[in-house]
Amino acid sequence: MKAFVYHGPKNMSLDQVPNPVIQRPTDAIVRVTTSTICGTDKHIRNGGLPEVEAGRVIGHEFCGEVVEIGAGVNKFKKGDNVAVSCITQCMECYYCKRGIYSRCENGSWIFGYKIDGCQADYVRVPYADSGMYLIPDSLADEDVLFVGDILSTGYFGAENGSIQPGDTVAVFGSGPVGMCAMATARLWGPARIVAVDIDESRLEFAIKQGWADYGLNPQKVDVTQALKDFTSGRGADVTIEANGFEPTFKGAIAGVRPGGTVSVIGVFEKPQILEMQNLWIQNITLKMGLVKANHIPELIDLIKEGKLNMKPLITHTIPLSQVAEGYDIFEQRRDNAIKVVLKADA
Ligand SMILES: [Zn+2]
Ligand SMILES: [Zn+2]
Repeated sequence: MKAFVYHGPKNMSLDQVPNPVIQRPTDAIVRVTTSTICGTDKHIRNGGLPEVEAGRVIGHEFCGEVVEIGAGVNKFKKGDNVAVSCITQCMECYYCKRGIYSRCENGSWIFGYKIDGCQADYVRVPYADSGMYLIPDSLADEDVLFVGDILSTGYFGAENGSIQPGDTVAVFGSGPVGMCAMATARLWGPARIVAVDIDESRLEFAIKQGWADYGLNPQKVDVTQALKDFTSGRGADVTIEANGFEPTFKGAIAGVRPGGTVSVIGVFEKPQILEMQNLWIQNITLKMGLVKANHIPELIDLIKEGKLNMKPLITHTIPLSQVAEGYDIFEQRRDNAIKVVLKADA
């Protein structure tokens, strides 16, 4: 089969590799019908995650058709169309039993990282019963494509923010994950959602889609002051860091009010400084983590009822055979690319 393989930093290619096979009774083999490229893949491609071994098929955000199941898979059958979580969870280890699925001792985020991922014709899904979700007949792959990763991550960021009705929420980073955080933050009924990014087109886009109410460009305005102006001088009740870099991290810390919550969902490559000499007295709650993708059924339901629609994020759709170009388009944000979707070759 075809697969997009990591050979080392800045060295990936579309290769012919053997098809995946069932290794354990709880595995399923899925024919990948639709996949997408995640910001994390960019980190891998550039060597930011050196633990990824050469020869690894990358990709972890996808939908597909079940073509084979192991003897221990009970919830699915051949021919089922499924959305797949980027988090593999065994449901039996110390962390799974405590609901911290993202730290599953037999899984966690492993697709396209520790095991072969989805930028391929086929992929092996371990613990299929707890990692796959049926796509309702009324929905297409593209409707639910993001539930397994960025939409769950955005939701996780908003949930960790403990947003209250009437709150002011500022999301630092108006990329795909940031916009998913904005869209899901709405579910808690904040008074206003403020997008922060240096890319004006992405601020405008988030507002146009109704995900954000305001956009702030730190190169043009003092974001901390602007957030105070929205809130009688206090600062945002909740800030969500969705970028993974120093300016957005600093901005999220500086922008929150005393007693507020900073929720971090960005993926960081470098250490960050917390200025505890100023922060200790602020009673700020700082939360972070790898997505807990345990609300996928609810997210699919919200999509089905028209309460959430992240499809506008899809700016480019190309066949898997052009995956390398897809990564270039995504990374260079060519033609204002936000999410690049890969379809199985006909
Ligand atoms: Zn991802
Ligand atoms: Zn587990």
